[in-house]
Amino acid sequence: MTNDPTLDPQRRSWVEIPEGSDFPIQNLPFGIFQRPGETPRMGVAIGDEVLDVAALAGAGLLDELNLPLGVYFADSLNPLLEFDRTIWRGLRSRLAELLDVKDRELGTVHGLKNRALVAGRDVELLIPIKPGDYVDFYSSLHHATNLGRMFRPDGDPLLPNWRHIPIGYHGRSSSLVVSGTAVARPFGQRKGPDAPPAMGPSERLDLELEVGFVTGSANAMGTPVDVNRAEDHIFGLLLVNDWSARDIQAWEYQPLGPFLGKSFATSLSPWVVTLDALAPYRVPAPEQDPPVLDYLHEDNRLGLDLRLEIALATKAMPRPDVVSRVNFADMYWTMAQQLAHVTSNGTPVQAGDLYASGTVSGPEPEAAGSLIELTKNGANPIKLANGETRAFLEDGDTVVLRGSCGGGQLPRVGFGEVRGTVLPSGQ
Ligand code: CA
Repeated sequence: MTNDPTLDPQRRSWVEIPEGSDFPIQNLPFGIFQRPGETPRMGVAIGDEVLDVAALAGAGLLDELNLPLGVYFADSLNPLLEFDRTIWRGLRSRLAELLDVKDRELGTVHGLKNRALVAGRDVELLIPIKPGDYVDFYSSLHHATNLGRMFRPDGDPLLPNWRHIPIGYHGRSSSLVVSGTAVARPFGQRKGPDAPPAMGPSERLDLELEVGFVTGSANAMGTPVDVNRAEDHIFGLLLVNDWSARDIQAWEYQPLGPFLGKSFATSLSPWVVTLDALAPYRVPAPEQDPPVLDYLHEDNRLGLDLRLEIALATKAMPRPDVVSRVNFADMYWTMAQQLAHVTSNGTPVQAGDLYASGTVSGPEPEAAGSLIELTKNGANPIKLANGETRAFLEDGDTVVLRGSCGGGQLPRVGFGEVRGTVLPSGQ
């Protein structure tokens, strides 16, 4: 266990934290918010409130960090991500001091408390990062095995490269959206088994439950990142729904991989939970067999004990029903290996880049991160709490992904949620 005072389970805030909140003083995730009629700015979630970090900076309470005010009054976290871990850690540590029940500074500065805290329901949460590049990996052994069994029933479900390379592909940054953004069912070219290719709305729209990490500026072009130092460049994590049109994907993916079946939308949760806040919940990552090449070999392989769930709501059932629960802990490839691999050819990683894990699935059939797995490619529809069934998503369905760590001996440090409703094609 670390001595970091920001992680002290006994620490209390003067802000009231509702029971079971994802956002106690030990979390302090960063995001971008906007009051009606005002410009976007940096905030931190605390209980049901948002702490206006920009207002604190404007009042001189963050002067010790020596950051330009523009970092706090930006419309994304990218300017903060241009700095390094020392600054990220220093800012979070200072905010924890200001929110500590022992520190009345915020309350005693005239009027600042009212200006610096705003109810979460009164603000709009914006997309927290503006990634130049977005990569989606394929790092769950269970997910890769499940899909391999479906698409290649006669051979080894894993392709020969899978245990040697963190497989991934470059995603589409322009269609990254924040939680709450509705997603229109995409049009695309697809082909049924006994029919010619045709253009139309996807008939097999799916979700993918993933966890993404957000980086600082990690390396200069031509200089790979050392796998054992890779986490130094990871600012924090968020939840990702990689919407997937399975019919479009199945027809287009050979030989170059996912393209338009994925690029129409990817949803992100609004709060980036820092890697520092997640330190108490790190666990040993699974053994890798066969051993990996040196550039992927870690002295200390760490995963994250993060419970994740998928909930679905429908037009007839507005309250989301949990349809799957998985854990991020047993991902085969770690974040450090993913970042080392991405940069192993000298590719520069920039501040604000996003690296998604790939669908997180567990060893049990009912613990999967996508409908294609839960329903066996649509053959066994799942039953919802109100008796409705789903093979794939229907118009009007809402997907809600949630995640949290701890909650027992340790504080509950959560990610909030990423939510999106499916609209009919063309809307
Ligand atoms: Ca994916």
